[in-house]
Order: sequence, then structure tokens, then C-alpha cells
Amino acid sequence: MSVANIGHWMDGQAVAGGSGRSQSVFNPATGAVTGQLALASSAEVTKAVASAQAAFPAWADAPPLKRARVMFKFLELLNQHKDDFARMITAEHGKVFTDAQGEVTRGIEIVEFATGIPQLLKGDYTEQVGTGIDNWTMRQPLGVVAGITPFNFPVMVPMWMFPVAIAAGNCFILKPSPIDPSPSLFMAELLKKAGLPDGVFNVMQGDKEAVDALLVHPDVKAVSFVGSTPIANYIYETGAHHGKRVQALGGAKNHMIVMPDADMEQVVDALIGSAFGSAGERCMAISVAVLVGDVGDRIMPALIERTKALKIKNGTNLDAEMGPIVTKIAQDRITGYIAAGEKEGAKLLVDGRSFKSSEAGCADGFWLGGTLFDHVQPEHKIYREEIFGPVLSCVRVKDFAAAVDLVNAHEYANGVSCFTRDGGIAREFARRIQVGMVGVNVPIPVPMAWHGFGGWKRSLFGDMHAYGEEGVRFYTRQKSVMQRWPDSIGKGAEFVMPTSK
Ligand code: NAD
Repeated sequence: MSVANIGHWMDGQAVAGGSGRSQSVFNPATGAVTGQLALASSAEVTKAVASAQAAFPAWADAPPLKRARVMFKFLELLNQHKDDFARMITAEHGKVFTDAQGEVTRGIEIVEFATGIPQLLKGDYTEQVGTGIDNWTMRQPLGVVAGITPFNFPVMVPMWMFPVAIAAGNCFILKPSPIDPSPSLFMAELLKKAGLPDGVFNVMQGDKEAVDALLVHPDVKAVSFVGSTPIANYIYETGAHHGKRVQALGGAKNHMIVMPDADMEQVVDALIGSAFGSAGERCMAISVAVLVGDVGDRIMPALIERTKALKIKNGTNLDAEMGPIVTKIAQDRITGYIAAGEKEGAKLLVDGRSFKSSEAGCADGFWLGGTLFDHVQPEHKIYREEIFGPVLSCVRVKDFAAAVDLVNAHEYANGVSCFTRDGGIAREFARRIQVGMVGVNVPIPVPMAWHGFGGWKRSLFGDMHAYGEEGVRFYTRQKSVMQRWPDSIGKGAEFVMPTSK
């Protein structure tokens, strides 16, 4: 099998790596090495920043409508190549093809949003704030901005960032996850085809060295990060220390509260899909079911049966429900958590560690079955920490108040859901819960493109969410202009604070 050399994208073209450092890229379903990825040196990052900086003045000066037209063309190309992207995702990430198609669609929606940039950049205006004086605000781009993204959504998460950043007039450097880097280069190619000037979008493949180079570079004005909480924390502190605007989205431990009045069939479907979809490697995956009252006894038999019956296959199979784990390292981490849960006394009802793939060519893949724990306690490691794998922990509580207290005490606060038929409970839940994204009878409440995405507490460092109007605000800065014309000048110096006389 041929191994592709995967490099960078700079100045409107693909460039090979020059650092001498590289990393293997795997197909998680087979365990085979499919690519050799160049890892950028800080000198290469500096070159990419210089290229983006050079492209910035002209791009920032382009009328928003012209920038929007590039986005429209990009959108058209993305729609043409939707399945090519999905295939690339499945090959390097492992998620099933149909789920990868969904990821691409959710990314495309942000491009659709970004085509509305002329409207989004419209400022406000007040005539006659003082006699003969008008005041208006406008939002201008920042300059070169960077995005550092995780492995689990190699198309969607970069698209949370660059369509809005670029449409707003910035130049962008993407540092994708080294685990599944190929879609980033295809996005760059399509942006060029769409008419984006060279240097406006660049891809620097790499690891900590590339990230650190971006974090300290004086010409990088803002950094968007999505990944695990310890790294998000580091990015936020280091970026802010170097004077940058930073939004750093971190890890998660998403709970689903199930009230006794909920539709139990719907609940089981929702739990199975949201815990095991994408092998639990979603920042919005439900990893904890909070079962109120007698719900545990009522749904456990079905949960056991459905967890055992998951169709776990190479993601290229159209009927696959769950693919492999992304890497061997992640597989070992998750099996370590399962062992810890068992040791601490949680009840292991389905153990995914025994799963073996019988598909041709998949014996060396990074496989793990769905895993189900019951009677998990808040002090257990599998409850406190993010596992990021196909492991569902069930916690039993006596009532709604205890469920809300449990969720609110957790350090992560990305997504949460409540299943109930009671409008009063639903309202109370949405108001009281200390979490950024909330679902009522919706297991994975990922906000639409124009609403913005972000958690609370240690799931987000910074004060602005990704995409939506928050994204536009993040990638622009406000300028306030006050204007008076000559016929009102010449009244002499004024020494008091201007007021609206
Ligand atoms: P990760 O933190 O390991 O990596 C994210 C990015 O940071 C990658 O580009 C990686 O190369 C870089 N990086 C890794 N270690 C670094 C270091 N020491 N210094 C500088 N940069 C470093 O995350 P991952 O494993 O790729 O992704 C999974 C994590 O991302 C999970 O914790 C998941 O919850 C989180 N995530 C969060 C969201 C969200 O919106 N909150 C969305 C998707 C994923």
C-alpha cells in the first residue's frame, strides 16, 4: 500500500515539509500507515505568518460582498465534494461514512452563514449625538489569525473558524490535528479554486512546536483553539500572555438527565446514539446518563441489549453504526478507564474490551466495543474525567433536584440534556443548569451556524463562543467614529467632557 507524503499549504500552494520531522498517519480500521505527515518547524510557521501578513491589507480592503462571493463559490465546491471529504474523514479518523457526511454538512452550514458577511459586518449609526456630530461603529478585521483544531472533527471544527474569519477580512493559519490532516489540504485547494487570493488561507501541519510558534508570534492577533482542557488552558494563558485574543474550547463530560415521565423508547435510542455515535469521540457525546427514580431499573435491560448489538465495523460499510477508535494510544487510554471503573466498584454490564473485528484486513485496527457501566458514583475516576470513547456511565439519583446538583457540580460544562414530558421541569432545567449548550429531549444540542457554539466552566476558556455572531465579534474589532464637519468647527477649544448638548 502506498504511503502519501502530507505537507503544508502556503501562499496558495502545497509545500513539502522542510523540518526533517514527521509523523505517521494511520487508517484506524486496519491499523495500516497511510501517510507520512510533515511537522512544521517554528521557522516554517514564521514563513507562513509572513505570507498571511503580506496578503492581509488587500484582503481586508476587499469589499465584504466580494469576500462573500468567494464563500459562495467555496460553498458550491464543498457541496460537489461532500462525499470526497467524508471518505477522507473515514480513512483517517475512522468514524462511519454516514456520520462523516453529517460532519461535512455541519461544516458547510458555517460557510453558508459566512456568505452573509456584508449584513453581519454592518455597523450602527447615531445621527446628531451632539449638535452637528454623528457617531457610528464599524467592525474591522484583526489581521493574521490562527486556528488549532482537534482530531475528532477534521472538517467541521476548522470550518467553525476560518469561513467567518476569512469572510470578515482576516488571513488564516490552520494548524490541524496531526492525526487526520488530509481534509485541511483539500479545503485549501478548494478555497483557491473559489478565487481566494494566495496567502489568505494557509495550513501548517504540526505538533507543539508549530502551536507554540503561533502562540508567541507578534503578527498573530487571535487564536481559536478546540481540543482537550489541559491544552485549551495552556493555549489561553500563553496566547493571552502574548497579547492575543483567544477562544479555547476544551473537553467535556455531557450528562443526560432522564426523568421517569420520559418516553423510554426514545430515551434508549437517544442514549445509544449519543454515547456510541462516532465511538464516543465527540465533544457533545453523552457520556453520563443520570437516571432519576426508577428509570435505571426500567431501561437497563434495553441499554444492555442495544449496547451489545451495536454494529461495529469499518466505517466504509454503509450499515456501520460505530467505527474503530482513532489511535492505539486512545484505545489504551479508554481500556485503562474501563479497568479503573471496574476496580473502583462501578458495575460493568457490557465490556467493550473483548470486541474483535472479524472483517477482512481489520485485525490490526484499533477496535473497542460499546461499554456500559451502571451504579457509577460521582467520586469514580470514570465519572470525574473525560474518557472520550464508547463508554456510557449510568448514575442513579433520587430526584430532579439531585440530578441538577450533580450536573452543576461537574468541572466540565459543554453540553447537557434532559428527557421529560413535563414542561415545568424542562423550563426549570434550562434555567438552572450551569452548562453552555442545553437540550430538552435533544441528546446532542449542537447549535446551528447562526447561534454559536461554546461550553461553560472548564469547557471553554475565553468569553466568546465559536461561530455565529460571537464568531464575527471574535474575528473583528470595533471602531467607533465621531464626526463633525467644518461649518461647526472653529468655536474654540472645549475643555469639558463632550455631552449631547
Ligand atoms: P488535543 O488537545 O490533544 O489536541 C488539539 C490540538 O492541540 C491539536 O491540533 C494538537 O496537535 C494540539 N496539541 C496537542 N498537544 C499540545 C501541546 N502540548 N501543546 C500545544 N498544542 C498541542 O485534543 P484531541 O485529542 O485532538 O481532541 C479531543 C479533545 O478535544 C477532547 O478533549 C474533546 O472534548 C475536545 N473537543 C472539544 C470540542 C469543544 O467544542 N469543546 C470540540 C471537539 C473536541
